[in-house]
Amino acid sequence: RKSVVRITTGSQALDELLGGGIETLAITEAFGEFRSGKTQLAHTLCVSTQLPTSMRGGNGKVAYIDTEGTFRPDRIVPIAERFGMDPGAVLDNIIYARAYTYEHQHNLLLGLAAKMSEEPFKLLIVDSIIALFRVDFTGRGELAERQQKLAQMLSRLTKIAEEFNVAVYMTNQVVADPGGGVFVSDPKKPAGGHVLAHAATVRLMFRKGKGEQRICKVFDAPNLPESEAVFQITPGGIAD
Ligand code: ATP
Ligand code: MG
Repeated sequence: RKSVVRITTGSQALDELLGGGIETLAITEAFGEFRSGKTQLAHTLCVSTQLPTSMRGGNGKVAYIDTEGTFRPDRIVPIAERFGMDPGAVLDNIIYARAYTYEHQHNLLLGLAAKMSEEPFKLLIVDSIIALFRVDFTGRGELAERQQKLAQMLSRLTKIAEEFNVAVYMTNQVVADPGGGVFVSDPKKPAGGHVLAHAATVRLMFRKGKGEQRICKVFDAPNLPESEAVFQITPGGIAD
């Protein structure tokens, strides 16, 4: 039986909200407005996953699927230094791939699964899970097919998390929600509908606070209190 590993986000407050960090054997989804820190958390996890478990890391490699072209190797350097790690060695342990279509994204996952059976990975990032689906399936008539393909990809992610004891961290976009009433305080909801809601083990909603401050809320988890954590985006990555 595999045991859960919790990987630090770099913020103690955020780790506490998550019960210790981002969990293996699970899918953690982060959605929220632009510049709310979803990709910055991905970069921080690229480094913290490689820390020894005694330092709240995962002692493993990282796979990064980038659908928006926002991965920045240069950004890894100060984050690695902040955690006292050698940036070159950290970068060598990040397997990076840019996906251009949803089919490409799916094929990359198949290839990564093969790699994970050979080498010890502890984190798979998909930033973002939905962007290419929204490009490749436009129009109302294609929605059912889109959701079916999305479900297939998510089930692949679940399998990877469970088979290789890996944490899956995926980001999601927000879409306008008419809400059907005037009492909607936040008109934004996560994209991907029920299919995505069902696949994510933990759903996190990010929003901007003052300056570099960001707020994370556990979203739509009936078994957890509606608590929030405040964190910062710093040159050294996510922090308190
Ligand atoms: P999107 O929806 O557009 O993908 P996102 O949630 O992924 O947005 P991020 O790219 O994670 O947003 O966050 C961008 C923010 O991170 C910037 O607005 C800036 O505040 C902060 N940031 C980026 N680099 C640094 C840095 N080197 N030092 C401090 N803060 C930084
Ligand atoms: Mg981003």
